Amino acid sequence: MADLSAQPTIGILALQGAFDAHARMLQALGAKTVLVRKPEQLATIDGLVIPGGESTTFLKHLERAGFFEALADFTRVKPTFGTCAGVILLAKTVLSPAQKSLKVLDITIERNAYGRQNDSRILEAETTLPGGPIEMVYIRAPRITAMGPGVEVLADREGSPTLVRQGHLLAATFHPELSTDPRVHQLFLDLVTSARI
Ligand code: GLN
Repeated sequence: MADLSAQPTIGILALQGAFDAHARMLQALGAKTVLVRKPEQLATIDGLVIPGGESTTFLKHLERAGFFEALADFTRVKPTFGTCAGVILLAKTVLSPAQKSLKVLDITIERNAYGRQNDSRILEAETTLPGGPIEMVYIRAPRITAMGPGVEVLADREGSPTLVRQGHLLAATFHPELSTDPRVHQLFLDLVTSARI
């Protein structure tokens, strides 16, 4: 039985990619964080962040020791927040090229959809989150090209969803951990808190 008075423990998948900035932001919001490098650690956390990086490299690391299967089981039921490559891993269908994924988030996503390596930019967009427009840092970002009826759009870029929620899953094709605005991480912590009750 979870101790509901304790601060939530958020794991950050730290096989590669940008995990430090997520840890700093979640700690500033009052969460305990642990870097997850082994499948056994999934049993010790209330929620998980799958950070940006290179999804193909993540997949290589996940091939060992039953990690991919453990992560698939975890993300089916426990709060998980994917950013950029993390969204690619969560998606039901990956294009450009097609690749293996956890298939829990009911979206189709196209990798590197805004151009080549140098297409990284900072934009500001409207969001349904309270508090006005949100800064979005894109780094070789993927594009969500289709989604199922259970997926709610919280922000978009020229009509393509960039921040979405499906029940216990939250996904951003940009990098909220690289901005100073904590609203997306706060929303994730709220999801984790409501899942513990
Ligand atoms: N382009 C990367 C991929 O396809 C994602 C980029 C990122 O996470 N910043 O996996």
